[in-house]
Amino acid sequence: MSDTRLKKDPVLSELEKKYAELQRKHQQENSETYHNDRATLTGISKKAFAVEGTKNEDEMTAEELLREEKVSGNMIRSAVDSIIKDKRFSDDLDYQDDNSSKLAKHVQKGAVDLRKMETHEAKKLSDALDRCQLCIENDNICADMLSMAKNVYLTLPPSPEIAKYSAMIVPINHVKNTLYCDEDEWEEIRNYMISLSRFYYEKLNKAVVFYETSIYKYNHAAIVAVPIPMSLSSTIQGYFKESIISQTSDFEQQHKSIVDTLAKSEVMGRDSFKHLIAKEAPFFHVWFTLNGGLGHVVEDVSSWPKRDLFAREVLGGLLKVDPLTIRKQGRWEKDDPRVTEMSMIYKDYDWAEQMYN
Ligand SMILES: [Zn+2]
Repeated sequence: MSDTRLKKDPVLSELEKKYAELQRKHQQENSETYHNDRATLTGISKKAFAVEGTKNEDEMTAEELLREEKVSGNMIRSAVDSIIKDKRFSDDLDYQDDNSSKLAKHVQKGAVDLRKMETHEAKKLSDALDRCQLCIENDNICADMLSMAKNVYLTLPPSPEIAKYSAMIVPINHVKNTLYCDEDEWEEIRNYMISLSRFYYEKLNKAVVFYETSIYKYNHAAIVAVPIPMSLSSTIQGYFKESIISQTSDFEQQHKSIVDTLAKSEVMGRDSFKHLIAKEAPFFHVWFTLNGGLGHVVEDVSSWPKRDLFAREVLGGLLKVDPLTIRKQGRWEKDDPRVTEMSMIYKDYDWAEQMYN
């Protein structure tokens, strides 16, 4: 075990200890909402906190090398660009085969399958990546970041947010949804979920829900955290369930469209979300605890509210937000004063800052 690892571990222990205390307190006040989280916390792997291995390239497995190489969305883009530029790509099958393995090295697992991609589709993807406001190398990147880890960062949702101090957990890689994220990315996502839960509880005396909407082909994955009053934490699950049912057509209902990932987590553990929802499907998922919540596979995207409007309507309705604000299409602004304000009060909870700086 390296010195750095020894130095880092107390941070995790401290984080776990504090959160366990929080859980106990919270359980006394709100009997059931968080009862699964401690299991999650005790099971959290320390892998994300370990320093990089000391292996050189020769000692690494192909998989490890691939992981090393897929750090930047730039690589995906350059791979796509090279395909577009190369006229032979769509015409010559042998050429495609030769190159697909090379290109695959640069492409996130499953997120972009260039071998199956037509030239015009690759062009569309390239355009989408250029425009994407969550790809950090783009000039039109969203509001400044609140926190940056190795694979995942924390920022604010576009304005107007549905509740003050909402936040957005975003993988650095342009993947369509978090089901495409690997274990390292998920460790960091969970760390942000834990630190935000603590932050909302201790600083604002609030509970939190996290939600993810993945209904568009070129979506950049993001999980939105919304603080809610403690008084809602035991009833919010019912509101979401009813809202999904009323949003869903009869046809879909016959297909048992609601997946209770929280209930299933008692058997399947905290990964029930990953096991129960197919990453290729358009879906909505909301977490009531770190273990799970409710998921819904959207069979008819055209009848589902645009962007994350579904979650905004449910939460906005509960939080009595003005309907015009709920429906307003959000946008990020440069030098957003919300960032400074949130950074000031969140900084003590920023596990990534404590870990890497
Ligand atoms: Zn992106």
